[in-house]
Amino acid sequence: TVPPRVGVAIGDQVLDLQLAAAQCPWAEEVYPLLEPLAAGDLAAFMALGRPAWQLLRAALSAALAEDSDQGPFLELCLHPQAGLAMLMPCTVRDYTDFYIGIHHATAIGQMLRPTHPLLPNYKWLPIGYHGRASSVGLGGPLRRPRGQIRLAADAPPVYTPTRRLDYEMELGLWVGVGNPAGEPVDMAEAEDRIFGVTLLNDWSARDLQSWEYQPLGPFLSKSFATSVSPWLVSLDALAPFRRPLQRPEGDPAPLAYLDSPANRAHGSFGITLEVWLQTARMRAARLPAVRLSQADMAEAAYWTPAQLLAHHSSNGCPLATGDLFGTGTLSGPGPGQGGSLMELSRGGREPLQLPGGEQRCFLEDGDTVALRAYCEAPGAVRIGLGAVAGTVIGA
Ligand code: MN
Repeated sequence: TVPPRVGVAIGDQVLDLQLAAAQCPWAEEVYPLLEPLAAGDLAAFMALGRPAWQLLRAALSAALAEDSDQGPFLELCLHPQAGLAMLMPCTVRDYTDFYIGIHHATAIGQMLRPTHPLLPNYKWLPIGYHGRASSVGLGGPLRRPRGQIRLAADAPPVYTPTRRLDYEMELGLWVGVGNPAGEPVDMAEAEDRIFGVTLLNDWSARDLQSWEYQPLGPFLSKSFATSVSPWLVSLDALAPFRRPLQRPEGDPAPLAYLDSPANRAHGSFGITLEVWLQTARMRAARLPAVRLSQADMAEAAYWTPAQLLAHHSSNGCPLATGDLFGTGTLSGPGPGQGGSLMELSRGGREPLQLPGGEQRCFLEDGDTVALRAYCEAPGAVRIGLGAVAGTVIGA
């Protein structure tokens, strides 16, 4: 087996950083930055901090520019992406899933509490729960989980495969630099701790969830699998797609530890997220995948990445390199913008019609769910965040 390599995606190719460190001439200060990457250790590079990330990003951009002297060397360091097996970016140290999609929280809340869908804390702090790091992977086959389900309101629960398997369309934020216990990170520094962004599918078993979630939040309804995309996109690469943090008129201003002028001006990101579904029957009939969900992070998210990191550390909780935050389901406000089947099928009451005549309220065995995301802005080169896909297999 070949030892793991770290690479940079360039179109449909990958720049192999082990080869690039060995075969291409670099400025003196670039070698120490390439060293952990050439050794296949992305986490060690993440721990170096944002000045190092920015320096290497600038060095790579210059080396890959059209008239660069390094171009002929780098040509020899490219592999076609199609021939490579992807690995996790790094070990997930710990995993927290937030709930910052306000249209998602409102839609789910409306099913439970029609008169007051959002709880009083929602607009004051980013809600989250502690997820399970060991279940985070790159997708692939997903075994339908079993668990305790109550089939009728007055019946005892049974242990059985979930009947309400769902996806959640989220982004993953990867911590590059942590903080010592007892030392909260200020808003001014919060973004400097975030190395990059991936796609994240928080697979959910809604029938397990509704029975188990009170009073301490989701547990086994979430911890069987969470899928992320393999490519990390840095916040610096996302700079052309920054957006102001938008709050409706009359909403409370964030407390000082969650606020900064920079965060208000450009702390959010315009990232379009999509979920695509292809059932086994569609695959057999050669019908392409159908898009179920589409939403934009800047419109969906009530809190920014910086606020998530500042809040998470605000009690002194130590964060560390390789910590992963899920944003929570990023649903838009309109029809077709729900980031989960729970929303799109209105709690399982209104089935979706699929090409080929099938219907879905929740996922069935053989269904393939793929998340994609991209950023577009006038005058900026379009960025893709890659994809993450999983296929449900029977319990
Ligand atoms: Mn979630």
